[in-house]
Amino acid sequence: MKQNIAIIGAGPAALALAAFLDKNKYAVTIYEKNKTAGRKFLVAGKGGFNLTHSETIETFIQQYTPDTFLKDALEGFSNQQFMNWLKSIGIPTFIGSSKRVYPEKGIKPIEVLNTMLKVLEQKKVQIVYGEEWTGWNKKGALLFSSGLKAKADICVFALGGGSWKVTGSDGSWLDTFAEKGIETRPFEPANCAYEINWPESFISKAEGKPLKNLRITCDSKMQKGEVVITKFGLEGNAIYGLSPQIQSELNANKEAKIFLDLKPTIDFEKIHSRVQKSKEKRITDILRNTLNLSPTQIHLLKSHLDKETFLNKDLLSKNIKELPLTIKSAAPIDEAISTTGGISLNAVSDSYELDKMKNTFVIGEMLDWNAPTGGYLLQACFSMGARLADHLNAK
Ligand SMILES: Cc1cc2nc3c(=O)[nH]c(=O)nc-3n(C[C@H](O)[C@H](O)[C@H](O)COP(=O)(O)OP(=O)(O)OC[C@H]3O[C@@H](n4cnc5c(N)ncnc54)[C@H](O)[C@@H]3O)c2cc1C
Repeated sequence: MKQNIAIIGAGPAALALAAFLDKNKYAVTIYEKNKTAGRKFLVAGKGGFNLTHSETIETFIQQYTPDTFLKDALEGFSNQQFMNWLKSIGIPTFIGSSKRVYPEKGIKPIEVLNTMLKVLEQKKVQIVYGEEWTGWNKKGALLFSSGLKAKADICVFALGGGSWKVTGSDGSWLDTFAEKGIETRPFEPANCAYEINWPESFISKAEGKPLKNLRITCDSKMQKGEVVITKFGLEGNAIYGLSPQIQSELNANKEAKIFLDLKPTIDFEKIHSRVQKSKEKRITDILRNTLNLSPTQIHLLKSHLDKETFLNKDLLSKNIKELPLTIKSAAPIDEAISTTGGISLNAVSDSYELDKMKNTFVIGEMLDWNAPTGGYLLQACFSMGARLADHLNAK
C-alpha cells in the first residue's frame, strides 16, 4: 500500500520534491495557504529569473554558506541536471553572458510554473489551496486554520524564508517549531542592500553607478562580482553572498567592516610595482591610465582616503587591494531577496529529517543557509527537493 506524504508549502522546493517522488510508492498531497502555487517563484521571475548558474559544480558549491551542508544535494542534482530536467519537461534554458541560466527567450515565468504543475498533475499529486498550517494536535495530526486536520505517514515542510511576506512566505511558523524544542534562529535579511554613510561629495556623483569586477571580503569570506552604488549604500551580487558574515558583525558590533579589492585579478606586488614605475605624474592619471580604474573607482578612492594616503603610492596600492568601508545596517527584512535563519541546520539530519520528529522533514529556504541570488537560491531548493525524493524513494 502507498504511504501518504503531506508537503506543506507550494514553492520551488516542494514542487521539486513532488516531481521526483515515486508515484507508485507515495500518495502526495501539498497544502498551500495561498490560492495559487509558487508566488515567490513568480516574483523571482519578474526580476532576472535566474533559474540556476552555469559555473562548474566545484565553484558553484563554494557560493553557499555553509558549503558543506548543500554539497551532496548539489552534486546529486547539479545545475546541469536541473537544466536537463527543465528541458525534458519542455522548458529549454539558455546561459547568459553572466553565466546565469534563464528560461529560453519568450518563455514566461508563469509558463515555467505551469509546466512544473503539469508534471505534478500527471503524477496525481493533489494540491489543496487556501489551507494555512498552524501546528500539530496531541496525536501529531497537522492542523490548518480552516479547522482541517490531516494525518500523513511522512510530512515535509517547505514554508520558505521570512521576506516578501506578500508572497505567503512570512516565517510565522518559527515559534511553532521552537515550542517543539526544535532549534531555530531568528530570520535576518540576506541578498539585500547594505547601508553605508557615503560622503555627500561622493554619492552626489556616484549614485546609480556600478563597481564592476570587484572582490569584497568580510570576515575572511570573499565574493567576486559587481555592486551598484545607491543612496542607501551598496547592493549587488558581490555583497549578497557575504550576508551571514556582515549580519554577524552587525549583531556583534552594530557595524560591519568590508574590504573592496578593486583589481582582484592583479596581486598587490604587481599593482604596487605598476604604480611605482608609472610614467604618469598625477596619481589620478596613474589610476586611470596605468591601472585602468573607472572614474567611479577613482572617485571612491579619492573620497575615502585622506590626501596623504591618496598621494602615498605604497598606501594607495594597499587601498586599491583592500579599501575598507563600514556597513551601518541591512535593508528591512521584507525587502530582502532571501533570508537566513529559520530552522537551524543542527536540527536536521543530512537528509533533512528533524532529529526531534521522526518522518518529518524540512527543505528549501526555511533552513538556515545562504547563497547569493543569481540562480543559487532556486538551484539549492530544487537540489534539496531532488535529494529528499531520492532518500524517500530508496526507503
Ligand atoms: C524579488 C526576488 C527575486 C528573486 N530572484 C531569484 C532569482 O533570480 N534566482 C534565484 O535563484 N532565486 C531568486 N529568488 C529567491 C527564490 O525565489 C527563493 O529562494 C525560493 O522561492 C525559495 O523557495 P522555497 O520553496 O524554499 O519557498 P517559497 O518559494 O517561499 O515557498 C514557500 C511556500 O510556502 C507557503 N507557506 C508558508 N507558510 C505556510 C503555512 N503556514 N501553511 C501553508 N503554506 C505556507 C507560502 O505561501 C509559499 O507558497 C528571488 C526572491 C525574491 C523575493
